[in-house]
This record gives sequence, C-alpha cells and structure tokens, in this order.
Amino acid sequence: MTRHSKPADSAESEQQPPPAAMTFAELGLVPELLDAVRDAGYTTPTPIQSQAIPLALRGRDLIGLAQTGTGKTAGFTLPIIQRLLDGLDGLVPEEARTHRVRALILTPTRELCVQVEESFKKYGRHSDIRVVSIYGGVPLDPQQSRLRKGVDVVVATPGRLLDHMERQNVVFDDLEILVLDEADRMLDMGFAPQLNRIVAEVPRYRQTLLFSATMVPEVEALARNYLRKPIVVQVGRRSEAASTVTHAVYPVPRDRKTELLAELLKKEELDSVLIFTRTKHGADRVVRHLDGKGIAATAMHADKSQGERTRALDDFKSGKIRVLVATDIAQRGLDVSGISHVINYDVPQQPEDYVHRIGRTGRAAATGDAFTFMSPDEIAMVRTIERVIGQQIPRISVPGYDFGSVGPVDDEAPASLLPAAAEPSAKEPARRQLRRPNVVRGRGARRR
Ligand code: AMP
Repeated sequence: MTRHSKPADSAESEQQPPPAAMTFAELGLVPELLDAVRDAGYTTPTPIQSQAIPLALRGRDLIGLAQTGTGKTAGFTLPIIQRLLDGLDGLVPEEARTHRVRALILTPTRELCVQVEESFKKYGRHSDIRVVSIYGGVPLDPQQSRLRKGVDVVVATPGRLLDHMERQNVVFDDLEILVLDEADRMLDMGFAPQLNRIVAEVPRYRQTLLFSATMVPEVEALARNYLRKPIVVQVGRRSEAASTVTHAVYPVPRDRKTELLAELLKKEELDSVLIFTRTKHGADRVVRHLDGKGIAATAMHADKSQGERTRALDDFKSGKIRVLVATDIAQRGLDVSGISHVINYDVPQQPEDYVHRIGRTGRAAATGDAFTFMSPDEIAMVRTIERVIGQQIPRISVPGYDFGSVGPVDDEAPASLLPAAAEPSAKEPARRQLRRPNVVRGRGARRR
C-alpha cells in the first residue's frame, strides 16, 4: 500500500496525490542517472522513489516515512545528484570548488554511512560527483585530507562530523541540501544535541529531506524545526511489516534456543541468515555454539573493530559466510541484499525494531522469512509486537522444543518452516516417529 499522509500536528506540511510515473525516465531523471539506474539493474522505481524523486527534484522539503528496504536511499541519492549536476556546468573553476560542500547526509551508523556513500558512487558513476564518508572508529587524518581537498557531498555520522567541524576541516556555508537519514534512529541513539549543533552551522535557506521509519513525536518536532513546508510521502502503514516477508514465531525455552537454531540452520534454503541477539555477549555465544556444530558464523557488534565489521559484512555479502550474528545497533543500516532469512534469537525489545529487522529481508522485491524465537518470558513482548504490526504471527511448534501448549492446532506447517529433522520424509521412515509439528495460525496471518 502506498499513500501520502500528514503528521498529526504539522500544520505546515502538505499532502500530494501519488504521482502516476511508472518509469525512471518519467520521474524526470537525466540520462546520466538513467544509465546508472539501468546499470544497477533496476527496471521500475519503488513507490518511495516514484513519490520522492519528482518532489526532491523540484527542491521541495520532504519527510519520507519509509523503512529500510524500500529503496529510500536511491529515492534521495538520485535527485541530489541531479540537482548537483545542474550546477556543475563547467563554469566553476576547480579552486573555487574547494570546501564548497553542497550536500550533507547525516546517518546514525557507520555502516549506513558507507552504504549511502556507495549509493552516491553507484548512481553518480556517469557524473563527476565527489563524495566522502565520515564516521568514527577510524583515524581522523585521511578523512581530514579528503575534506580539505574539497568534496561535493559529505555523508557522515553526527559525532565524527562535529570533530571535523571543530577542527575547521569542513564548513557548510554553501550547503544546498541536507538529508537526515533514519532520523528516528539518530534520536534513539541520543544524537539530538549533535544534530542541533550541526544544523546551526548550515545555511537556513536549503533543501532538507528527512527519512524515518516511524513518525514519533520527537521526529515530528525535528521536522518542525528543520524543514520548511515539507511534503510527507509515506510507503506502507506506519510500522507495517515488509509485505514480502513470511513471519513465524517458535516457542522455545531460553536454554534450548541455540539447539533449535542449529537444527533450523541444517536446512539448505537458509542460505544467507542474519541472526539478532539482544547483547554482544549473546552474539558471541551464538557464534561459538554454531562453530562448535560446524556452522561457520561471524558476530558483528559494537565491540568489533571497524575492520572486523567491514570484513564480516563483506564475507556475508559475498556468500563466504552464511550466518551473520548481530546486535540491534550493529544491524541498523546494513544493506545486504539477498538475505534469505532473519532470525530473532531474542524477541526485540521494541516493536519498531522488529519491523526494522525484518526490513532486512524482503528488501525491494525479494522474498524472505523472519523467524522469532520466543521463550516463556518473551510472550508478552511478542503480543505487543503483534498489536503494533496489526497482525498475529503464526506459531511454529517444534516437538521437543516447544515449552508448552500454544493453542489450537493447525497441522499445515509448511516444510520450509520446520527444522530438517522434523520434516516428514517418505525416504526416511525413521523420521516418521516425529510428530508433525503443530502450527497455530493467528487470524490475519499470511500463508505461504
Ligand atoms: P534501501 O531501502 O535504500 O536500503 O534499498 C534497498 C535495496 O533495494 C538496495 O539493495 C537497493 O539496491 C535496492 N533497490 C533500490 N531501488 C530499487 C529499484 N527501483 N528496483 C530494484 N531494487 C532497488
């Protein structure tokens, strides 16, 4: 579902009917960008792109309510490049471009920062845009010399950017476009003071684009302060789970989660699996356990160095490792296309985190599964998530693991949701001893 909406008390913002554009050319993109989009293999704009691109090209301020996986990054990267190209007509002498940063994108995490930079490089490959990513955890010097050489676009996490601003490595006196990406997460992570300090240093008359998965009051306040007559574009209902994802909840005692995980991972179709744990120690424990069972896995969390995190992500993207175990903070902004499954080893503490996490799979038009392991103390949290996403999630009861009765039985559990050992198999009679697992389907739950 695609619709436009207005935040509750934002009198300034405006609604627009959804545009009917069906191709990238119809959105008004220039040939350099149409070539880049074709090179990326995209045939049709996603809903957020159809809505955001024409408005951003016209210089409007925008609030994009879209979770990751909807194509929002291209939704702002493409129009920004086009607006920057308009000014690069060869008349600006090279020396005059030094320090003339024209677009600034603020992101909550270094991973997202690198991905947005890659996006600029990917879509800007037929143009002359200079982009740099600025994030913490790595030495300042190389970033300083890049900034001092002059760039058109800075993609940055707020803390490290302020370090550079204080050192006068970069100034934003000529900034034309400011993007606040994943604004809700930046606020969650406590970046409000840094955002205020940065925005105070950029010109008042600029174009501002704000993207957020949720329109919480704090984001609304940010939008009221920083945006001028923004148009709100929204893809999907607030907190709606990505529609290509099949969800399932596995009731399992806490101390048997690792065993169930190892069982599920025996299935070959779980070929690219992102697992979330609540804590860094939990992530390390899961990796150790899986290693012990001969399943190669890598942990990714805040205690890992930037090098380790980049390596883990590269190995996962290239298929070298099949299983990546991450904490919530580490996951935000990961762009790993082609994830086949997301497994919540622990039930997320916030319903929005559930939506974000499963946004990792079901990206753009891909399909994916999202499994959640639920121990008895996590039942209430799962119910809260179900209320927020407006949908009951089917329970998959695996004999030997389920901690108790889970309600009325529906015995149509698709084999794809069961561990290999629990799948009925004509070839292996011994397996028939295993009862067919019980599946409880909630009203409104999707079937495969
Ligand atoms: P994002 O929501 O920006 O993180 O993008 C999610 C994924 O969708 C990325 O892997 C993009 O490369 C991909 N993507 C973006 N736009 C399109 C499109 N129009 N068609 C197909 N895939 C896309």
